[in-house]
Amino acid sequence: MTVSTAEIEEAAGVLRAGGLVAFPTETVYGLGANAEDAAAVARVFAAKGRPASHPLIVHIGAAAQLADWVDDVPATARLLAARFWPGPLTLVLRRGRRVSLAATGGLETVAVRVPDHPVALGLLAAFGGGVAAPSANRFGSVSPTIADHVRSELGDAVDMVLDGGACQVGVESTIVDATSDSPSVLRPGGVTREDIEALLGGTVAVPETSQVRVPGQHPSHYAPRARVVLVDPQKVVAEAEAARELGHRVGALLPSRLSPSATGAVAGLHAVVAVPDSMAAYARGLYGFLREFDRRGCDLVVASLPVETGLGLAVANRLRRAAGPRPAA
Ligand code: AMP
Ligand code: MG
Repeated sequence: MTVSTAEIEEAAGVLRAGGLVAFPTETVYGLGANAEDAAAVARVFAAKGRPASHPLIVHIGAAAQLADWVDDVPATARLLAARFWPGPLTLVLRRGRRVSLAATGGLETVAVRVPDHPVALGLLAAFGGGVAAPSANRFGSVSPTIADHVRSELGDAVDMVLDGGACQVGVESTIVDATSDSPSVLRPGGVTREDIEALLGGTVAVPETSQVRVPGQHPSHYAPRARVVLVDPQKVVAEAEAARELGHRVGALLPSRLSPSATGAVAGLHAVVAVPDSMAAYARGLYGFLREFDRRGCDLVVASLPVETGLGLAVANRLRRAAGPRPAA
């Protein structure tokens, strides 16, 4: 679980040679390639089964390097970077020449962040360049929060996996379009809207569907194999019971503070996870819970949305995407 300096050096060598390295960040595990190497970036898309038009996030080692990777840094972007980096905030800015168009899915904007994890920062320092990395999972599925998730999902498609233990935030970064001085949130994540608004001193828009291509905003993303249905918190138990009676293998994500009698009523279900009281713990555990339902063979998961403030906005966003319409098989 602890990553040695020798392993980090080896991983930097893999990146230099055009290979793929999965590495821990504070949000989820990333699948990294040299952001300046179009062929290496193409391997990331192939390993994930991700359409080439869907852009990756370029990870850099320090805010001071930002100007090397983007064309223009508006004052607001500078403020956001100074306040939240290293951390779970991604800034979308105008693409600098160094970034391969393969990494931006052909867009003239690029998503950049400085991750807050010693292994990720060690790798970035040893490598020296930018690392284009989406989450290290197959396209559309649940992001990995431990190294084993990466190994079991991507197998030999990744050249090296750095095992830094469990990710502390557990949901992806907040993506902010910072190309202008009136930024908007493209994807809620580890930095809360409230924290961004407190810094900027105004309200920040969170468009329901963004104009920019963000695969995380498509229906059915961050989804387990089991179908996810969302109901009112007080109806989770009854809905789960009803589905079980219809013959489903049902998992339930029980809202916190349900009465003990309600909790007792779900004893016959296939898998039950009680949602942690703290939203930080819920975010940290969310993808592990969804994977657990798959591991237990559930075909249906009944859940409810948390209150959408703070990290609850990101958790609710991921649950909605998990419950989104599936493409026809
Ligand atoms: P993932 O780490 O799998 O969530 O993938 C990276 C995320 O960053 C995706 O949701 C991308 O759509 C988003 N992203 C990367 N570049 C851009 C960009 N130029 N504009 C908007 N979103 C972007
Ligand atoms: Mg992803």
